[in-house]
Amino acid sequence: MKRHLKRYIVDQSAEPVQPVAERGLDLIHNPILNKGSGFSEKERDELGLRGLVPPRVMSLENQVKRVRENYNRKTTDLEKYIFMESLHARNETLYYRFLLENLEEITPIIYTPVVGTACQQFGHIFRFARGMYFSTSERGQFRKIMNHWPEDEIDIIVVTDGSRILGLGDLGASGMGISIGKLALYVACAGIYLHKTLPVVLDVGTNNEDLISDPLYLGETHKRLSGDEYYDMVDEFVTAARDRWPLALIQWEDFTNDHAFPLLEKYRDKVLCFNDDIQGTGSVALAGILGSLRITGGKLSEQRIVFLGAGSAGIGIADMIVAGMVEEGLLVEEARRRFWFIDSRGLVTTTRGDKLADHKIPYARDDEFIPALLEVVEKVKPTILMGLSSQPGSFTKEVIQEMNKHVDRPVVFALSNPTSKSECTAEQAYAWTDGAVVFAGGSPFDPVEYNGKTYVPGQGNNMYIFPGVGLGATVCGAKKITDSMFFVAAKTLASMVPDDFLTRSTVYPSLKNIREISANIAVAVCEVAYDEGIARIERPDNLLEYVKSKMFQPVYVPYEAV
Ligand code: NAD
Repeated sequence: MKRHLKRYIVDQSAEPVQPVAERGLDLIHNPILNKGSGFSEKERDELGLRGLVPPRVMSLENQVKRVRENYNRKTTDLEKYIFMESLHARNETLYYRFLLENLEEITPIIYTPVVGTACQQFGHIFRFARGMYFSTSERGQFRKIMNHWPEDEIDIIVVTDGSRILGLGDLGASGMGISIGKLALYVACAGIYLHKTLPVVLDVGTNNEDLISDPLYLGETHKRLSGDEYYDMVDEFVTAARDRWPLALIQWEDFTNDHAFPLLEKYRDKVLCFNDDIQGTGSVALAGILGSLRITGGKLSEQRIVFLGAGSAGIGIADMIVAGMVEEGLLVEEARRRFWFIDSRGLVTTTRGDKLADHKIPYARDDEFIPALLEVVEKVKPTILMGLSSQPGSFTKEVIQEMNKHVDRPVVFALSNPTSKSECTAEQAYAWTDGAVVFAGGSPFDPVEYNGKTYVPGQGNNMYIFPGVGLGATVCGAKKITDSMFFVAAKTLASMVPDDFLTRSTVYPSLKNIREISANIAVAVCEVAYDEGIARIERPDNLLEYVKSKMFQPVYVPYEAV
């Protein structure tokens, strides 16, 4: 393995000049080291590159200009995605430089929503393999297969079983696109070193008949494993990964609820892991609510909160808000009584006569069953309304105005994704409340002009949270991820919303500051790890400086031959 350690840039801060083992075409064909036309004259002389690249040395800035020209030439979002992934496979530094400089524009291409289309088309647009696949037919060999990956140090593994990719359902092994996209955001937003990331698909089969009958589908063409067979396969992966990369953080991504909750419960105290759909969403939503309270006044523990949607995202958010209420002095049970959940059947109650899924039980009310949202709003008079139902149009004018009758500044978060699934639009919410609403969406909404004032809707995007949490956990060598880490991440994010944003009803900071946000969240996460005694690395004197020194920067580091 020694040879491989030399392949990549190990630590930019420690090594201003990077010794590299590769020369010539090997160097050009290594996307982590490749600079394309950007190799310096000295590198061309020393590393056998003369004649293999065009004569004129390009700066990274000029290369970015070329990428921009070519990107703009692509006429569809899917073509833009393919272009970005080809660049990703060719020259990672240039890819991340372009991505970071244009984060708000490009994120919807490499992540939701366009990555969804890319996953749906995965077998048809496939060009080269990235990441690792572990499939049913290879069970028993996972540990051996892991040796095929050249890196001995991995910080973050994003793993999906492809069972619920975004809101698109079962995409089987085509879910790889989501693991790749998420890790690109870890690198761009938090500076996780690119060679220390590993996208993974656990191919347990698929129940998607269209995929099974598609000759270009790349996964196993049988039904999904279930029961013990499923959990045994996941366990083989986790055990092997822990053995091969003992310090790696495993992020569970886009698993269906029936597996997402049990897997998190099974591993959260034993393995460094978390589920972004549950915990990351909870954290970013809590941050938005804390930001809203800076506008509306009042304590978290005084709020009455109605949720439309009681899936992993809704319950994850509620659990995080409960943690906040408990910190303000409520008992867990008292805090839970301040929530009213509505699922596809109506208000979640113990009295409605069906068997509730386990994750809903803590929030089931003993009250009389109410079938519809409007009646719940009439009865409860909520201060906060959260949409996580994927039911577009379900926050009607009547519902929002009924809420506004009882509350001067209603807080409405329509978090379902993509935009077409949003419970209402930002424009509707401002118009129906005469600008009184504090609104945030799950997808981006354009600023809204209403009665001469500009309102800028915030976006409850998980990318505010998970990169910083991952960075913090890996920098201090945390043994596990605790809910307190997501809680402090939310508080840190809420505290970084500038006052002038609040005057235009914006409850999240600008994504332009994402690296600063991630660094601060990472520091808060490290502090929790040190307080809870679960950090493996000794506490540095200046934590923020230390965290920042560990962040990858997309710049060309000079190379010298080893
Ligand atoms: P899920 O499938 O686990 O849950 C959906 C919930 O909606 C279920 O409880 C279901 O019963 C309920 N529902 C369905 N039809 C309904 C109806 N007509 N009325 C009331 N409830 C209904 O999905 P999830 O993972 O919880 O995600 C839900 C939504 O939240 C998705 O649109 C997802 O994109 C979005 N989400 C947003 C963010 C974010 O903004 N940061 C993060 C995660 C998820």
